[in-house]
Amino acid sequence: MTKSLSKNNLDEKKQFFIDMIAKFCDKCGTPYTGSDLEIIQDTNLSSIIHFSCSNCKSNHIATFIKPMGISNRMPINTDLDVEEIGKFASRKETSVGEILDVYLYLKSKDSIVI
Ligand SMILES: [Zn+2]
Repeated sequence: MTKSLSKNNLDEKKQFFIDMIAKFCDKCGTPYTGSDLEIIQDTNLSSIIHFSCSNCKSNHIATFIKPMGISNRMPINTDLDVEEIGKFASRKETSVGEILDVYLYLKSKDSIVI
């Protein structure tokens, strides 16, 4: 009974995020499956999810702010960005303001190299 998150629950959660945030890859239109998602942070307030397309390998970071039902998604280039977001997410409590800081931080690094 110590396991709080069974595999089924995790799959359900991922499917929820696919339904709420993005069903298809922006770039090539490939449908996302649970294995394409990595939940970086999940609290009562907000979630940060990494979407990775199995077809074209493009990466997106999505945030979902639960009280407002708002989601936002932006493309990222490397796994490094995921680590950077993980640093924010590893804080015990992340406020909506802090998540917006992550947005602004990533937006400020607007140099997208393909
Ligand atoms: Zn794709």
